Amino acid sequence: MPTIHRHPVTVFADGTEAVLHVHEIVGGAGAGPTVGISAAIHGDEQTGPQIILDFARGLDASGMKGRLLLLPVANPRSFEARTRHNPVDDLNLNRLFPGVAGGWFSEQLALAITREFTDRIDVLIDIHAGGDQPTVDYIYIRTAEDLSRAFGSKLLYRAKPGVAGTMYEGTAAANADQRGIPSVVIECGGGHLDQAPYVKRGVAGLVNMLRTLGMLDGAPVPPPPQVVMSGITIVRPTRGGFIEIAHPPLGERIAKGALLGRIVSPYTFETLEEIRNPAGDGWMVLSHLTRNLVQPGTYGFMIGHE
Ligand SMILES: [Zn+2]
Repeated sequence: MPTIHRHPVTVFADGTEAVLHVHEIVGGAGAGPTVGISAAIHGDEQTGPQIILDFARGLDASGMKGRLLLLPVANPRSFEARTRHNPVDDLNLNRLFPGVAGGWFSEQLALAITREFTDRIDVLIDIHAGGDQPTVDYIYIRTAEDLSRAFGSKLLYRAKPGVAGTMYEGTAAANADQRGIPSVVIECGGGHLDQAPYVKRGVAGLVNMLRTLGMLDGAPVPPPPQVVMSGITIVRPTRGGFIEIAHPPLGERIAKGALLGRIVSPYTFETLEEIRNPAGDGWMVLSHLTRNLVQPGTYGFMIGHE
């Protein structure tokens, strides 16, 4: 039977308690690893909590070996506000691990996650998405390549340590690295779209990862043909306005110099900016799949390179 642990973090100024909800599911088929699955470290990435919800609903743990710790909402205040940064202190939780006892609220939260979740698991699966506006679709290869591949996505990204923009200090996954815990970071879904297809893929991906670990019965489904990227170019609009896209679907090729999209003024109807792929030929990793109103400097597009 699943147990829900409520770990108090602190008390907010409005008198309510900051709490982490961690579900513990012990398999009925004997010993095995403890796998931690977390989501919504960035509160505007709302696909991951849905993946974990549906995964937990569909799981029959009687035949499972080992144990799961599920942290469906790692950053509840950001989650309810649908913001990447925490509204309490305007900080990015995923740059603050392992956390600080006497620090900012987000640093205290990071420390509670380290203590109550990360320090109790053998494998970390951390689920991200594209956020409130963009949609994203790739998996990091970090320290558990077989598990990254087993999720079943087409595009994989082998992040280079120490290269700015490819692997940041203070992430939940970097914290796992320091503790010798293998990790996978999933980037799946987001944007103003029906998330059901991404949630379905996410649940199937998690099941396949647990089969690969030998925790669930059944042979793992072999991954589809996959592309391993070694770099990702982030392209940001320099003007604000409606973003209108002109590129191939996510997961498809984009040529160097090809038109990605335009920024159009909703006030004058002018095209304020034409955005082209500034880097070499690559793969579409992240984009806006609806006509979103964007600020200058936001995540516009991401292009992966082999
Ligand atoms: Zn994220």
